Amino acid sequence: MYLLFDIGGTTTRIAISKDGRQFVEPKYVPTPASYREGLDALIATGKHFAGDKKIEGVSGGIAGPLDAAHTTLANSPHLPDWVDKPFKRDLEKAFRCPVYLENDAAFVGLGEATDGAGRGFGIVAYVTVSTGVGGVRIVDGKIDRNAYGFEIGHQIIDINGPLCATCAMPGHLEEYISGTSLERKYKMRPSDITDPDVWRESARVLSYGLNNVMVHWSPELIILGGAIMRKGPREFFQQTRDYFEQTVKIYPKLPRVERSVLGDIGGLHGALVHLNQSLEKYRT
Ligand SMILES: [Zn+2]
Repeated sequence: MYLLFDIGGTTTRIAISKDGRQFVEPKYVPTPASYREGLDALIATGKHFAGDKKIEGVSGGIAGPLDAAHTTLANSPHLPDWVDKPFKRDLEKAFRCPVYLENDAAFVGLGEATDGAGRGFGIVAYVTVSTGVGGVRIVDGKIDRNAYGFEIGHQIIDINGPLCATCAMPGHLEEYISGTSLERKYKMRPSDITDPDVWRESARVLSYGLNNVMVHWSPELIILGGAIMRKGPREFFQQTRDYFEQTVKIYPKLPRVERSVLGDIGGLHGALVHLNQSLEKYRT
């Protein structure tokens, strides 16, 4: 029995894998603002799912950058009460088994690269436009080695741009196109925004972000996912792809840009893939 989770800025998904290969219908709960409540819910759900069986591994993503040892959330505008709490240790104490934590976007990207739109590709860049903006580089089915995590939402698009709500530095990508910033700017839920100019402009700004992803990460495939990308108008994806082609001129040929295909459970797929990779190392 393995416990998988994906703690997003808004929604948490929890699932159990009995065999380490598949997981059952995930449970969705709103992510509690309180760390204690979130931890208790996770432990209670895990124990309820497991019944009298032992949980042998726990793996999950959480919205925000982690500390270097992947034991706690290091910073988060969406979940401030979770920051610096001993999350890994608390889960180890509750389940008495190995626990693996990762940035949520990194696990979604890993899931998409291995079980979703990226199957068969060696170097995949995953970009999510959701409550925030994030991404990950996946190489040969693994999260690429990194010292501090990937934070492409905080790349600078305009040095004279508005201050990022998270870092208070100018012109970060997330400040233009994340669900949080669209909602703040247009005073409505992003899914209610129908003005085509808003989406066209968002697509244009995102294509600059993808230009930077391309020149730094050199992927064979770029996958676009996240709630805003999935639930926004269909043209948002197509326009992003078109602007990307108009923006990136340094290469004779560009990689494919595809939509994510695993819906909102990509993070659970990634958590399971990572759990298997980590347990293999742990056991040898
Ligand atoms: Zn920022």
